[in-house]
Amino acid sequence: MLDGAAELSSPTSLAHMDPPTPWITWAMALWNASLNQNMLHEMTSPFATQAEALVLRWLSPYFGMQGGHFCAGSTLANLTGIWAARDAAGVSKVVASEAAHLSVEKACRLLGLELLKVAVDRHGRLDGAQLPSLDDACLVLTAGTTATGAVDPLHLAGAAKWTHVDAAWAGPLRLSRTYSGRLDGIAAADSVAVSAHKWLFQPKDSALVMFRDLEMANSAISFGGSYLARPNVGVQGSRSAVAIPLLATLLAWGREGVAQRLDDLMQMADVLADAIETSDRLLLWGRPQTGINVFRPTCSTAAALVQALPPGMLSTCVLDGQAWARSVAANPLVDMNLVVGSVLAASLEGA
Ligand SMILES: *Cc1c(COP(=O)(O)O)cnc(C)c1O
Repeated sequence: MLDGAAELSSPTSLAHMDPPTPWITWAMALWNASLNQNMLHEMTSPFATQAEALVLRWLSPYFGMQGGHFCAGSTLANLTGIWAARDAAGVSKVVASEAAHLSVEKACRLLGLELLKVAVDRHGRLDGAQLPSLDDACLVLTAGTTATGAVDPLHLAGAAKWTHVDAAWAGPLRLSRTYSGRLDGIAAADSVAVSAHKWLFQPKDSALVMFRDLEMANSAISFGGSYLARPNVGVQGSRSAVAIPLLATLLAWGREGVAQRLDDLMQMADVLADAIETSDRLLLWGRPQTGINVFRPTCSTAAALVQALPPGMLSTCVLDGQAWARSVAANPLVDMNLVVGSVLAASLEGA
């Protein structure tokens, strides 16, 4: 198992949205496994239930939300937000950019909602000029698209019957004093999804779905039952206590500790972007908006560049039918000088 795993904490690991996890989360995850608390039944999890409420009380205000619950990933968090849009607000369709995550399309398929895809501008953001009528729609805005890290125009939040912000990747930037403004407008959304197993450095399966009007949303997505002391809220039934490792991380690092790591990662992405821009053998797709760089060599292919570098340093993505190399600043232990040197050297080799 160990030999067959990527080392996400390696100094050259920069390819994916999966961060290395702090050891305090390993200890908490081990305890969670041994105690096997179930968030579905508060009687099995009196402390874990309080811990989840505490974490949500602490994080929700950064997004202008009242609260919510944990689920196993933002695929489920997006499904839950769009479910609430359908059953609390009565939307009949979903509008999202063509760069939205495929989980939005999955949610529409499962919920029987029509999905209208809107073109993106040259920065990869939903083009507000091309929006259809939003009267009976759930508008899904992405804060940090998966391929390029673009942030849709969040000032559009509130322009539809329901606005859901998919902040799976970039949501935690709200904790940064320097970069919080990149997500301004998010507080006018009706629901927000954030993956804690991305930029909050948590083990999987940890994500949050939060709502501006919690009572209204919960009444639409809750089921009661004879064996349940309290209604079951959301998509999952039995759930593990993933709030505990996150609570431990937040207590250990504080807001400043989380923000410092994110600020460092954002700056490291800028350092790589600067180096790419000054090289005439590399073409930068655009300045990084949320720690993701997209670029390609001018004299060879993105695949050849990625192949020439250590595994796990870069990934690839396809934009407008063309392959690009992609880096994702999720690893605070990355050695950016080493990465920059390697990328520049590899771009010379391919020439
Ligand atoms: C990762 C991601 C998702 C899906 O989140 P999971 O936690 O992998 O289920 C949704 N939207 C965006 C923008 C993402 O980057």
